[in-house]
Amino acid sequence: MSRLISQDEAILIERVLAIGANGPILPSSIASIPTLQVTDTCKCGCATVWFGPNGAATTGHNLAEVIALINNETVNVIVWSQGETIVGLEIVGYGQTGLPDFLSVKPYCDA
Ligand SMILES: [Zn+2]
Repeated sequence: MSRLISQDEAILIERVLAIGANGPILPSSIASIPTLQVTDTCKCGCATVWFGPNGAATTGHNLAEVIALINNETVNVIVWSQGETIVGLEIVGYGQTGLPDFLSVKPYCDA
């Protein structure tokens, strides 16, 4: 079962790419964000979503990474890519659910 990316997920990805990019981000990658289809979610209850045909088994390239806050707990947020395609939005934080506050997003290197 797949669904279109939510507006909140799209805004978060745009912010992660803007603040924490590990390299050049192609305009076509940015343009694709609102059209991404969520193909899988994380089973642990966190807000991680996958967009590729392989779902949660996706492997790829760490396109951008930031830290952010959920309920004042620090989480890492990683946008994964395969080639020019964005394939995942991973929220790494033990036991945290939901998406982080967009205003709390900071560069990873400032952690
Ligand atoms: Zn999870």
